[in-house]
Amino acid sequence: MDAKQFDLIVIGGGPGGYVAAIRAAQLGLNTACVEKRGSLGGTCLNVGCIPSKALLQSSHFYEQAEHNFAQHGVKLSGLGLDLDAMMQRKAKAVEDLTKGVEFLFKKNEVTYLKGHARLTGPDRVEVDSQSYGAKNIIIATGSDIVQLPGIEIDEQRIVSSTGALSLTKVPERLLIIGGGVIGLELGSVWARLGAKVEVVEFLDHLIPGSDAEIAKQFQKILQKQGIAFQLSTKVTQAKANKESVTVTLEPAQGGEAKKARYDVVLVAVGRRPYTDGLGLEAAGITLDERGRIPVNADLQTVQPSIWAIGDVVAGAMLAHKAEDEGAAVAERIAGQKPHIDYNCIPSVIYTHPEVASVGQSEEAIRAAGIPYVVGKFPFSANSRARAVGEKEGLVKVIAHRDSDEILGVHIIGPEAGTLIQEAVTLMEFKASAEDMARISHAHPTLTEAVREAGLAVAKRAIHI
Ligand code: FAD
Ligand code: NAD
Repeated sequence: MDAKQFDLIVIGGGPGGYVAAIRAAQLGLNTACVEKRGSLGGTCLNVGCIPSKALLQSSHFYEQAEHNFAQHGVKLSGLGLDLDAMMQRKAKAVEDLTKGVEFLFKKNEVTYLKGHARLTGPDRVEVDSQSYGAKNIIIATGSDIVQLPGIEIDEQRIVSSTGALSLTKVPERLLIIGGGVIGLELGSVWARLGAKVEVVEFLDHLIPGSDAEIAKQFQKILQKQGIAFQLSTKVTQAKANKESVTVTLEPAQGGEAKKARYDVVLVAVGRRPYTDGLGLEAAGITLDERGRIPVNADLQTVQPSIWAIGDVVAGAMLAHKAEDEGAAVAERIAGQKPHIDYNCIPSVIYTHPEVASVGQSEEAIRAAGIPYVVGKFPFSANSRARAVGEKEGLVKVIAHRDSDEILGVHIIGPEAGTLIQEAVTLMEFKASAEDMARISHAHPTLTEAVREAGLAVAKRAIHI
């Protein structure tokens, strides 16, 4: 007999799983959440979003103090780096937030089961040999790093994002394999702290899938910050010894190989859905060709009692996408009819300046044959950006040529991650570029650049 019966068991305590569990409990479902890592919050809180943003902030302060305060007339002497203190602050932020989720579980009466969960049937879960029954199960087991053949991650010299968040000294030469979000965020951290950072990217551009114009500007800005790029290049081998890593690089399409030495190599070539040891076969679920759990539009698997959300299913591997899906599935199980507009999920790269987007890139819109108009506004013409000394970047608004509906907004510049939210809201409400332009925006704020880009769609920007 089952030790305990729940209305819902959620497997995985990351942003998808813990939000699903709390929402389900709010809706009156007797809910348990199983997590094996020993703390709640998943990849995001433990080794992802939060520690990376903590280090991005600390390294930004250091870099600003070193290079930018002087132009504001602020003189400093005796500037130094205490990496231990920086890491401790990061660890404290992580600890406080993961404990915070545990508190929320208690508050909402979610049962927290510590251990590895394995499905033993469509309504049964075993946690470290203890069996539980559930009317519904949500799989929210997230993702893990993608490894490259011939390159063994030891988390000392050859690291994944997890190791790169905990280096004990600033490497002199850091090679990053992969010019995606992780590579550029963590590359920025270590470049700011003094490392000579090189990024090797297989494709001929950074941030695949993003708006090409923004990606090009981004690369130029990062180059000015001292990060070097080798595009259309691949790493075929990396061998670590006690002092360094010897790396073999060659053109992406094949050709003459060369060798180079680095102190640390970060492998950041993507993440894969994680279902190891989950026992999917016991529930009759088979993975798709990319290792993801197939689900229908309601995030339900072939087994009606089993749902899946977050990084383990198709779509952007983003914490807020996982959270939205977690809440939506909990509500659906409780009989509601929630809806997620996947076109309106923003993505943000927390470098300096930030890069943020929502909707489609200009390339995707052109490829789909949709008639469109582009409006752009540079931060160099925004008074607040000038006043604070952050004038790099632009806002780009793409609207339908005939209906004026906003199809995509792409921002590179100060506070881009916050500014994008206006575009997200407008797009959720199917607003036009004219709506964006007519809404009052406080002066002097960076948000005026968004309005001006909206105006620029109709060729009537005022300040340029
Ligand atoms: P996860 O957060 O991966 O959580 C899954 C949990 O399930 C894990 O804790 C795991 O231990 C547990 N688990 C797995 N299998 C079992 C099992 N069988 N039994 C029990 N427990 C199990 N996204 C953003 O939106 N913004 C960011 O700034 C951002 N920064 C990132 C930085 C880094 C360095 C990384 C690596 C990722 C970042 N992400 C960011 C991505 C974000 O972390 C993920 O999209 C998000 O965590 C996915 O949530 P999830 O709940 O699907 O899975
Ligand atoms: P990614 O998919 O963003 O980038 C990986 C990059 O590596 C791509 O540009 C790809 O072309 C390149 N690549 C792949 N194989 C290669 C090879 N052999 N040699 C050289 N380059 C190669 O993956 P990531 O940066 O590892 O991030 C993983 C996930 O985590 C992403 O889906 C992202 O959404 C999420 N994440 C989000 C944030 C954020 O929202 N700010 C931050 C970090 C991570």
